[in-house]
Amino acid sequence: MNKQKNERLPFKTVMAYSRRGFAIWWKAEPEILIAAAVQRAVEALSPFLPLYFTARLVNAIAGGGEAKQVWTMLALLLASTAVVGVLRSAARRWDETMRRAHQWPTWNRIFFDKLLSMDFCDVDDPKNQALFTQIQQVRQWNGWGLNKLYMIFSDAVGAVFRILGAVALSVSLFTLPVPEGSPLAWLNHPGCLAGMLALLVGSVLASGALSNHSYSYWNKYDGTAGNRGFSFFYFIAMEERHRGTDIRTYAQDQFLENAAHAEMQGESSFGPASSIARWARGPMGACAAASGAVSQAFMGVIYLFTGLKALGGAFGVGSVTQYVGALAGLAQGFTRLLEIVGNLRANAEYLKFTYDFLDIPNNMYQGSLTTEKRSDRKYEIEFRDVSFKYPGTDTWALRHVSMKFDVGERLAVVGENGSGKTTFIKLLCRLYDPTEGEILLNGIDIRKYRYDNYLELFSVVFQDFKLLAQPLGQNVAASIEYDRERAAECLERAGFGQRLTEMPKGLDTCLYREFEEDGVEISGGEAQKIALARVLYRDAPFIVLDEPTAALDPEAEAEVYTRFNDIVEDKTAIYISHRLSSCRFCDEIAVFDHGQVVQQGKHDDLLAASGGKYQTLWDAQAQYYQKKSGGAQ
Ligand code: ADP
Repeated sequence: MNKQKNERLPFKTVMAYSRRGFAIWWKAEPEILIAAAVQRAVEALSPFLPLYFTARLVNAIAGGGEAKQVWTMLALLLASTAVVGVLRSAARRWDETMRRAHQWPTWNRIFFDKLLSMDFCDVDDPKNQALFTQIQQVRQWNGWGLNKLYMIFSDAVGAVFRILGAVALSVSLFTLPVPEGSPLAWLNHPGCLAGMLALLVGSVLASGALSNHSYSYWNKYDGTAGNRGFSFFYFIAMEERHRGTDIRTYAQDQFLENAAHAEMQGESSFGPASSIARWARGPMGACAAASGAVSQAFMGVIYLFTGLKALGGAFGVGSVTQYVGALAGLAQGFTRLLEIVGNLRANAEYLKFTYDFLDIPNNMYQGSLTTEKRSDRKYEIEFRDVSFKYPGTDTWALRHVSMKFDVGERLAVVGENGSGKTTFIKLLCRLYDPTEGEILLNGIDIRKYRYDNYLELFSVVFQDFKLLAQPLGQNVAASIEYDRERAAECLERAGFGQRLTEMPKGLDTCLYREFEEDGVEISGGEAQKIALARVLYRDAPFIVLDEPTAALDPEAEAEVYTRFNDIVEDKTAIYISHRLSSCRFCDEIAVFDHGQVVQQGKHDDLLAASGGKYQTLWDAQAQYYQKKSGGAQ
């Protein structure tokens, strides 16, 4: 959990953090808070009404009252119990429904909205990723952070209502006097009232402090390693299916079991040897027990005081249950409030990470120019002496790249893995800004355009593109509402036509089986074709295909090339590949090496330049093809 516990946050800060967290919940989903408050209030008050009528009933019976009075009290007791029962279950159902529907979804939405609105370079920054992982871990570990605040709020409402109900039912314990002349009349002395109140406050403070101290051991405990180990060893095979195949193939479960066993023996959240287990057997458990003992001792005093007053004739014997119940509720309510203050303090430390993350600013400059929609698609892009380092690294991923794309041209970007091809595309799409140099659209720095407007110019298939477990048609259109005819036509042009006819529900067939039992699992190559159809559907003036054939077999690859002209039409296409044979048909080829453009030109010219990088790569790959298929391509 990597907490810096040494510096205790001032209480003012604790309250400021908590207020802010509460406001976040309120803005995101007020109904979940209202339902929780109503449920806790009803729950806290529910014992008091039956308690009151039970006392009246017992008093009526014990005092030898009239039968009518006894029956009335009995009827009231039953009626109040029934009403309270109905209210409780209605409130509980509402709260539970709200909690299930909104607690985690709201949490997720808060963070996903942030992740999606952040500058991409910040999402990618390892520092921010570590921060987000920490927030997730804390949430999974013990529900701390924003989520805890919602629970603390619910508890606080319960405690406050419990105190109010208890005060209403216990005031008369102190105001009803023992009749003068009774040997117990000394109980009327104001000192007795003061003493009882002092005991109440003392026991609440002592029991609360002991309980908070016991709880504070959780904050001292760093469960990160245990939690990571637990998630890794127990959930990975389920949540990450591709790892599941590896685990089976190489029988890695033995390794996992060994490691999990070692984890349980050592410092883990779950093993008996962990420090938390040792503390629970020692001081943590002792404090929790002492806290309970103090509360029980106070209960003994209440019984004594109330019993003596009843004996002295201050009230009927039935009222003893009412007062004892009410005062016990009062003590519990106050103890809970104290614990809540302790929890708010501990939680503020975790809220701090949360706000560190939510407050990451969007530093990327956003201009206001619009990229006019040109019917002639005359958009010109120029890289002017662009260099780039990824955040947190010291090496240049791109160095002094200068390049101009002519409209309607097919440009191939080739080079070995790690030579900077994808980085070049990421800069083109402004996922990052250049560290040095500038990128121009029609002669103007791309930073001066509105970002969303600029992005509309590009249709990109990234190498690690992802389709969603949603209907096929929606994947193609990247939208819920879409033009079905156009989606089908795009799939046809991308080479998916035949497969579409085999899909059980056509465009409405769900991809993958996460959400639909009759969803269809698709191969890597089929996914590529759907991604290409998505490019076509978007119809942007620039098409970028990053290694589009990596997942395709040679036949399917050849199919993509023959369709490429059809796909590209009058658009400007940038085609990235490390397979040179894939790029021959492009008008211009840029050869990347160690982040630099080392050669640029047409295939034949590049191949003729002896000793050039292109020729070296070509020869190496031709050799590979010769071995594989018995002839160079
Ligand atoms: P290519 O697409 O040609 O395989 P990349 O553009 O992905 O190459 O990578 C270029 C260089 O930048 C490589 O050295 C790679 O390790 C580095 N790199 C790529 N992505 C990141 C990242 N997110 N953070 C840090 N370095 C990265």
